[in-house]
Amino acid sequence: MLDRLFRSQGPNVDLHCHSVVSDGTLAPTDLVERAHRNGVHVLALTDHDEVSGLADAQARAAEIGLRFVPGVEVSVTWGGETIHIVGLRIDYRDPGLIAGLERTRTGRDGRAHEIAASLAGAGIPDAYEGALKYAGNPELISRSHFARYIVETGTCETVDEVFRRFLVEGKPGFVPHRWAKLPDAVGWIRAAGGVAVMAHPGRYRLSDLCMDEMLREFVDAGGQAIEVVSGSHTPEQYGEYAAVAQRFGLAASRGSDFHGPGESRHDLGSLPPLPKSLTPVWHDWPEAAAPERR
Ligand code: AMP
Ligand code: MN
Ligand code: MN
Ligand code: MN
Repeated sequence: MLDRLFRSQGPNVDLHCHSVVSDGTLAPTDLVERAHRNGVHVLALTDHDEVSGLADAQARAAEIGLRFVPGVEVSVTWGGETIHIVGLRIDYRDPGLIAGLERTRTGRDGRAHEIAASLAGAGIPDAYEGALKYAGNPELISRSHFARYIVETGTCETVDEVFRRFLVEGKPGFVPHRWAKLPDAVGWIRAAGGVAVMAHPGRYRLSDLCMDEMLREFVDAGGQAIEVVSGSHTPEQYGEYAAVAQRFGLAASRGSDFHGPGESRHDLGSLPPLPKSLTPVWHDWPEAAAPERR
């Protein structure tokens, strides 16, 4: 049945999601099982700045017959704005990649203490301990974990509301941070045999001019693709970034950016297909080739 759908309509590909290894709520193996149940044919796990969930996910995917792509989502600072670069088909044992990600992770704990101090000043005490409870991996303590704790305190109803009232620029709990440099992140991914993908461009608060400059630097550094159909985009943005992909000669990617049931608007594998005019980033990948007829 799945094979027939795959042959007739192309594979259901989801190349962006998170497990408890970063700020998702499911274990890597549970994520893989959920993707399979949802009809995903090709899945990439792309935890923030961390690859330690990939071996388990890959092993479970092999057991249940899901095609798996090892990935990562690297945090970058460009022009004062936080940018995310997804790496796909990476060799997650590559020492350069591992060292780069490790350097990117350091500083998260100090930042988390500063976030907690700022939240305490806004009437939310003990947020460091509160957020840590939600962090499956203490090295990856992130704003998502703070957001879940703030919901727990009853201060906000949802994580979305938290990201409107707290943790973002100009609001309590925002602490600016310097992540990796754009060319470094792309370089680690490429040197580990991976494809570098610009994650959810629609989320960045950059002027058109700055966005063009950022994408030009991304391409010059070796960036090859851009997320067009993303759980972090509106349907209007699918069209907008399809045009950007064509203008910059970039391949296109599709990813839900799923973080967990009940929290993410888009489940694994549930987004519309890529516009037909684009070259999918997986166009020449053996793991995305149609299954042989039996
Ligand atoms: P951090 O890496 O600690 O800055 O946390 C960033 C994470 O917070 C992202 O990967 C998202 O999972 C989450 N996040 C950021 N902005 C929003 C938002 N507006 N709504 C929901 N989640 C968000
Ligand atoms: Mn996240
Ligand atoms: Mn992201
Ligand atoms: Mn993500």
